[in-house]
Formats: sequence, structure tokens, C-alpha cells
Amino acid sequence: EIGQLKPRYAMDDRFHREDERLKTFENWPLDFVDRNELACSGMFFMGESDKTKCYFCEVEIGRWEREDQPVPEHYRWSPNCPLLRRRTTNNVPINAEQLERLLPPPSYDICGANDIEVRR
Ligand SMILES: [Zn+2]
Repeated sequence: EIGQLKPRYAMDDRFHREDERLKTFENWPLDFVDRNELACSGMFFMGESDKTKCYFCEVEIGRWEREDQPVPEHYRWSPNCPLLRRRTTNNVPINAEQLERLLPPPSYDICGANDIEVRR
């Protein structure tokens, strides 16, 4: 509907559950970006255009292109996302093994902006 700018889905406490995130993708417009991978890696569909948002780091990603992969894009825009960085979160995955396959390898970078560890 023209003029409707309010996203259909905003941040919701239920979205720590992957099955609840997946439900928001019912009308996901892009065949070439896998909704299961998006939901698995923390994203929900905002219901507007092709905007997605991560429940865990609140990054918003839209304007997906054909070659984009959900996890590398998410990591590029939000390298400190607690889900992607394998921190303890309240995420409830549908399939923990799928999540494990999707996540980037454990990072050796301990000097990120949010967790500085200095050794002397
Ligand atoms: Zn995130």
C-alpha cells in the first residue's frame, strides 16, 4: 500500500525463537535470499520492502542483491553480533546443527570494539 511506511514487524520478545522469526517471512519477496538462513541467523522480516532485522544486534539489512548470502552480509554490517560471535544468547534454534554450519568460524579477533582484551 502506497504511503504505508510503518514496518509490519518491529522488535518483539518472541523473536529470540527461530520459529517465530521464520513466521515473519511468510510474504518474503526474494526467492534468491534463503528465508531459512535468514531466520536461522537471527533475522526477522520487517514486512516492508526487503528489510530484515537481527533480533540480537538490531542491525537492519535491506536491498539484498542476488549474490548476497545472509550470514556474510550480516557479519559485514554487524561484526559484533552476539549470535554470530557465538556468545551466549537466548536464541532458540529450530535446528542447532544448521545454525552451527551457518555461523562464521569462531573468531580469533579478541580486539573488537566491544571486548578488548589487553595482554602485557
Ligand atoms: Zn545480528
